[in-house]
Amino acid sequence: AKREGGGRIRLFRPEMGERVLARQRDKADLRTAVHGGQLVLHYQPIVDLTTSVVTGAEALVRWQRPGRGLLGPGEFIGLAEETGLIMPLGDKVLAAACHQAVRWHDQGRALDITVNVSTRQLATAAFLPALDRVLATTGLASDRLTIEVTESVWADDAAMRGLMAVRETGVRVALDDFGTGYSSLSYLQRYPFDVVKIDRSFTHALEDSGRTAGVVRCIIDLAEVLGAHTVAEGIETSEQADWLRRAGCAFAQGYLFGKPDHADNWDSQPSVSSSG
Ligand code: C2E
Ligand code: CA
Ligand code: CA
Ligand code: CA
Repeated sequence: AKREGGGRIRLFRPEMGERVLARQRDKADLRTAVHGGQLVLHYQPIVDLTTSVVTGAEALVRWQRPGRGLLGPGEFIGLAEETGLIMPLGDKVLAAACHQAVRWHDQGRALDITVNVSTRQLATAAFLPALDRVLATTGLASDRLTIEVTESVWADDAAMRGLMAVRETGVRVALDDFGTGYSSLSYLQRYPFDVVKIDRSFTHALEDSGRTAGVVRCIIDLAEVLGAHTVAEGIETSEQADWLRRAGCAFAQGYLFGKPDHADNWDSQPSVSSSG
């Protein structure tokens, strides 16, 4: 604060104004990005751990921001949620991912598609009609699509209702980042999920910690009891893959099997089409 003439304290600092302006600019730029085609989807393979066959792909959004390069979702999903831009962003991602799944199918590749949906997006009344519309226009069978939600969905009644309605369409639901949020056994047993994704923090701690190994074994058993299958995230070493396979984990995702990449690069890689 600066002392001004007359003894008044000036609380406004120029940096604060700059920050507000930068945020305004980011918001305007993000709106342009969403509506102007600067969003890019990368796809990461999901493999069957027992056969190593690629059975599906998770769509992960990026922002090709002019002059700034390719930004990861960590740099703009938060802003999208705060500003409501997550709604049009989520619609675009869902539509593009479903179109890609159909394109793969037409090429003879039977890949399931997985899309991240924010709790905020799921809580809006417009989500279900948008989902129906995308399935109708693409012709994608609903059981080829999985939406991923995080445990924050449990704190939001409208999102929970949306989730139940989604499941009735035959679309599958995965619980993302399991074990990092507000996991609750009572929610888990009350609300059916098709997939439980074991967060990569567990995968990475497997080697050093017998406790982690025990917890991961429990998660896999728990999912089985609940009729869900498990996908382990963040697998980087064959040791991690071997351990998880032996522990009964069905599917896996991670740099060991493939980093997120453009669908174009998948097209030029016959090795990932083994399930087609
Ligand atoms: P997520 O859903 O947990 O996605 C997995 C993240 O882990 C991705 O980061 C992926 O690139 C990274 N990853 C995959 N395998 C490995 C590995 O072996 N090692 C390590 N260290 N990392 C790995 P990414 O693409 O930066 O996405 C971050 C998060 O952003 C996602 O986490 C998801 O929560 C969110 N997100 C991404 N796309 C969307 C979207 O379209 N909509 C919404 N609402 N959220 C999205
Ligand atoms: Ca995810
Ligand atoms: Ca995850
Ligand atoms: Ca995450």
